[in-house]
Amino acid sequence: MKKAFLGPMWSRKTFKILSEIRDKDYAIIDCVNSRNSDRDLNNLADRNRIFSDIKYVPFIPETIVIDEVHLYQVLNKEELIFSLLERDCDFILAGIYFDGYQNNRPFEIWNKIFPHMDEIFFLKSRVACGQCGSLKNVFYTKPKVIDAVETEKIGDHYINVCSACVEGGCPPF
Ligand SMILES: [Zn+2]
Repeated sequence: MKKAFLGPMWSRKTFKILSEIRDKDYAIIDCVNSRNSDRDLNNLADRNRIFSDIKYVPFIPETIVIDEVHLYQVLNKEELIFSLLERDCDFILAGIYFDGYQNNRPFEIWNKIFPHMDEIFFLKSRVACGQCGSLKNVFYTKPKVIDAVETEKIGDHYINVCSACVEGGCPPF
């Protein structure tokens, strides 16, 4: 079974991954070097099962987990995901769907991943819009500093915003 969980920050993507792998033999492939982040899957999952490349995994996992899928597009590492997806095992993928960094459109990598998936789940934000406070249509995650350069987009300096704010319709509260 190949599953993908999509959503903004604080939409329980990591919770879903942990629920899925609890009783399985899994390996987490982390090619974006987010091991030092204090907000992602790496702090909650078994660190002995996190690898930078599948060739370093000392066992054959039932399930391969790839988190922060959108960052593989940002960092031009998409081919790593597609080479893994050719393997005959279960997959759990997760990441942000809408590119709130640049154009508020879906990250294009998902269009290429969806045909490989058996199930796709869109998760809702569990927090209010960081600009207007609305709880409706909070689909986007964007940097607090709009002009952040490419390398600064990876980190904890983000807010979730609603679709009305993205379209410029909501004044900040
Ligand atoms: Zn808003």
